[in-house]
Amino acid sequence: MADSDTDSAQPMTLSRVVLKSGRDKSVRGRHPRLFAGAIKEIVGRPKDGNVVDVSTNNDEWLARGIINQQAQIAVRLLTWQQDETVDDVFWKQRVHRSVELRQCDPLLRATNARRLIFGESDGLPGVIADDYAGYIVLQLSTLAAVNARAAIVAALVECASPRFIFERSDEERMRYEHIKESSGVLYGEAPTEPVVIIEGGLSFLVDVPHGQKTGFYLDQRENRSRLARYCAGASVLNVFSYTGSFGIYAAASGALRVVNVDSSPDALRAAQANVALLGATSCEQQYVATDAFADLRARRAAGEQYDIVVLDPPKFAHNPEQIDRAARAYKDLNRVGLALVKPGGLLATFSCSGVVDSALFQKILFSAAIEAQRDVQVVERFTQASDHPVLLSYPESEYLKGLLCRVR
Ligand code: SAH
Repeated sequence: MADSDTDSAQPMTLSRVVLKSGRDKSVRGRHPRLFAGAIKEIVGRPKDGNVVDVSTNNDEWLARGIINQQAQIAVRLLTWQQDETVDDVFWKQRVHRSVELRQCDPLLRATNARRLIFGESDGLPGVIADDYAGYIVLQLSTLAAVNARAAIVAALVECASPRFIFERSDEERMRYEHIKESSGVLYGEAPTEPVVIIEGGLSFLVDVPHGQKTGFYLDQRENRSRLARYCAGASVLNVFSYTGSFGIYAAASGALRVVNVDSSPDALRAAQANVALLGATSCEQQYVATDAFADLRARRAAGEQYDIVVLDPPKFAHNPEQIDRAARAYKDLNRVGLALVKPGGLLATFSCSGVVDSALFQKILFSAAIEAQRDVQVVERFTQASDHPVLLSYPESEYLKGLLCRVR
């Protein structure tokens, strides 16, 4: 029997997780999550956080990962190569690999803000690292990742040359894994002034320790610039605006008026600061801190219409049980949003709920269009930016989808 003292080092003999017969398909398909229900028995007495081998009922070696018997996802699978050791060197190599991918990504050349590590998609379950002009926000949400914290930080320091690494944990996910949340400075010195990032030639302030998610919606980068091409001369209703990014791209591309709606006054204050950074344009920006659902209804009742309406709501569904309720909310939102588009104008509508796939999202929009009595053509399809890659063996990593629609 094997047991390791240091949680991130792999001992000579590993404990073995044996799958129930017929439950090997997802492991063979390299899905990185092994659920407790698929396990027949555990040979050896691994401690949570130890490296374990996974085999079939017939002793065929399949994969290796890190066990957490307190979590529903009992093993975070890390490698399907039997000769690959899971130790500090392993974690460092994975971090280097993901950072290098971003360093040579042509789509990221015009920015100094990017997601360096996107969890399972980068072979690093539970690790998110966002780099804002050298200030890195790290989120660790699995026991495996938390135990590898030191190796991950050391590797980031080596290959990303950050000024500062700050950890901000995702409380909800940590609860699933029964690990203590932690946050604080892991490396370097905290910024003394607001961090300014450059994206698409535009500047944005990012509140590294306090902003939503890790501070800025990097996943929408490409979509902001694609939408901007339609904005010359336009009036834009930017709903769920957060710190105003869609509206700032629009203003920089010649929009004449942007109305930013968000329930967070802090986000709107930041939006105002971002507009100030942009400098003089011919665009008039407005900021409305209120509930978007009520606000859109009031605008519809007042007969308002815009050339472009952007709907980028927060995640409505966190798990499959919430899909129906989320579908109703998306339909409701889009029905009202469509009514606010001038005939011949555009609706840019998004969903970041991973469990609502793009086919379902399109159906929801179809229902909304019927109810709104508008003819809707899809002119572009949006997805998450390239620093949030979709891993084919982990389709759940595809979460952001959007449609740009011409509305008659
Ligand atoms: N479009 C933004 C990101 C939007 S994130 C960007 O590209 O940066 C979702 C936003 O919705 C958050 O800023 C949150 O404050 C806001 N929000 C959540 N619920 C809301 C509601 N009911 N009404 C208005 N805004 C809401």
